[in-house]
Amino acid sequence: METIINQLNPSQREAVEHIDGALLILAGAGSGKTKTLTTRLAYLIGEVGIDPANTLTLTFTNKAAAEMRERALKLMPRQSTYPPLLCTFHKFGLLFLKFHIEKLGRNNNFVIIDSDDKKRLIRTIAKELKIDLNISFIASEISKYKNSLLSPEVVKENAELSDYKKVAAIYEKYQENIEENNLVDFDDLLMLTYKILDEYPELRKETSERYRYIMVDEYQDTNELQFKLLEHLCSEHGNLCVVGDDDQSIYGWRGANIRNILEFSDNFEGTKVVKLETNYRSTDPILEAANTLIEHNSRRLGKKLVSHKGKGESVKLLHSLDESMEAKSIAHEIHALLDKGVDPEEIAVLYRINALSRSLEEGFTKEGISFKLIGGMRFYERAEIKDIISYFRVISNPYDDFSLLRIINKPKRGIGKASIEKLQKAAYDAHLSIFAFIQKMSTGEVPLTVSKKVETALENLVEDITFLREEISGSLENFISLFEERIKLKEHYAAMVDGFERTMNIDEFYGYFRDAVSKNPDLHLDEFLNDISLQSDQDQIEENAITIMSIHAAKGLEFEHVFVIGLEEEFFPLLGEGCNMEEERRLGYVAITRAKSYLTLCYVDSRFYKGRRKMIDKSRFLGEAGLIQDASLKITKSSTFKKGDLVKHKIFGIGRVQAANKSGKEYKLLINFGGNKKEILSSFVQPV
Ligand code: ATP
Ligand code: MG
Repeated sequence: METIINQLNPSQREAVEHIDGALLILAGAGSGKTKTLTTRLAYLIGEVGIDPANTLTLTFTNKAAAEMRERALKLMPRQSTYPPLLCTFHKFGLLFLKFHIEKLGRNNNFVIIDSDDKKRLIRTIAKELKIDLNISFIASEISKYKNSLLSPEVVKENAELSDYKKVAAIYEKYQENIEENNLVDFDDLLMLTYKILDEYPELRKETSERYRYIMVDEYQDTNELQFKLLEHLCSEHGNLCVVGDDDQSIYGWRGANIRNILEFSDNFEGTKVVKLETNYRSTDPILEAANTLIEHNSRRLGKKLVSHKGKGESVKLLHSLDESMEAKSIAHEIHALLDKGVDPEEIAVLYRINALSRSLEEGFTKEGISFKLIGGMRFYERAEIKDIISYFRVISNPYDDFSLLRIINKPKRGIGKASIEKLQKAAYDAHLSIFAFIQKMSTGEVPLTVSKKVETALENLVEDITFLREEISGSLENFISLFEERIKLKEHYAAMVDGFERTMNIDEFYGYFRDAVSKNPDLHLDEFLNDISLQSDQDQIEENAITIMSIHAAKGLEFEHVFVIGLEEEFFPLLGEGCNMEEERRLGYVAITRAKSYLTLCYVDSRFYKGRRKMIDKSRFLGEAGLIQDASLKITKSSTFKKGDLVKHKIFGIGRVQAANKSGKEYKLLINFGGNKKEILSSFVQPV
């Protein structure tokens, strides 16, 4: 055990050896925060003698959790006790709700819906209510409400503007619908967990006593709700150790609250703060670029990292005419690296926005470079896979109308749109789920005016589901063969133009399922489904390939060779409405600090984007990082505004400026949107 501590520097050691009370480890990228956390966990268990069951270690992605688990287990003495709970916040919520959701009067066979399902549901409701608002906007508003613990009733009461009234109406219906179907969205995993802990002091006490030592990685990305949840979990002991870096807070757009880290010491009495100042990951030039860039931010705690590695290759800039040249040049560089024997796992290409990955994919495929794309179209988002999952969900819970509607005519059963609408309405009027309605329809208890053919098709579907339902109470060993035999989904997809790829995907999924069953013969179908829903986009596994991923997904990871593409004004920093320059810069900092030894920053003269080719300037970040001289001068000036101007806002529409006051580099505008007066910062509106 001495040896694991000896691998640390004095500050890291100090953190590991601090056992009771609140502890904040604050440090820049690559300074060994995660290493300190995993060592601390191993130390608590192996040295201090704390039962693994009394620890809880939380992070943000499954991949990060898996890596931490692996690192921590390596450091621990062999033991017979079960491994410590180390997972994402959401997974913790899921585990908790499995045991306690009944307290809210709900059954624990709930199904988790992902963001895609959520949007589909919102779209249906919006259509029903004849509301024409952007679906992603509604989805993110609902998410915000839940994370602020605002119920539909409260939101409804407080909505003033007409658009927000509409969102409130959708939120109400949405919540009704998911509760009726016993669905749980991602935000619910945290919100309901918090609610239960908040309403049941006894259970709160018991839970807190159970998890006596709590640790959180990437704490800068926690939101208000996660903070409150942690407060409850620590209520009995205050043993909370968090690590984070204010300069790497990149989830502001999703409600992460940087104040959580800035005010940690105020919130938890007697906090010990440990700062780590040595960077073990990157060479001097890389670290220098990162430090120089982030110094342009004003809202920061301020810290500087010193490189342990010292001298190294300078940061390279790669200039190309356009995106296909860019992909080609990077491909050539990668070929050269692979020829030299570099491990492909040590190479990553990062981008700021998803749209930029397409040209890379195309280019790399042409150049014969195998890659894994993380954060693109996810495996589980493919139509054929979603269909299987929907079937499985209906089999697990036939009252899940939402999933049933997805597969009702897949494969084609001759059940047309009009019949489906009739069925939906009839079931709704009869206060029955669709499945239950069809059951009653077949026994003649309720009528439905559809053709005999449709009626038979519906009855057959219910029969298939009922048959498969009986299969899932026991072993799932033969489930896949029975499923395919009955439903013939593969046949259905094989007949399509891209049938080959789709059936390959289906086979992969079936294989994955069989594998899960063989690893855990007691596996329950709903357990499998919930685990799938929680898999984040970091989870694609493919060996021996370079990685293409978004900067968000790369957080916490490190690679010998990193290429960052799209260092251009507009793409990185991403400009436009709602742009938060400091957060963009933090993203730049995260991107640069993923590199251990070699970093290449790429930019082009023009890009094809949203249907047209556009000339673009190189990113101001190149100048701010001290890599070129002139880029920082090209900052577009914000427009000036005066009383009487017409402006457009994404949500409120067109309005007229009534007063304009300079506020820093911007204007604070009082705008009249058809009678609704709002005070808005000028960067959120455009002149018309
Ligand atoms: P990030 O902010 O990007 O999440 P981090 O602070 O969590 O970074 P780690 O990933 O824990 O940093 O560590 C970065 C690298 O430095 C790892 O390869 C780790 O093994 C190495 N490292 C950390 N501390 C030490 C140390 N004391 N001696 C040698 N290497 C170390
Ligand atoms: Mg880390």
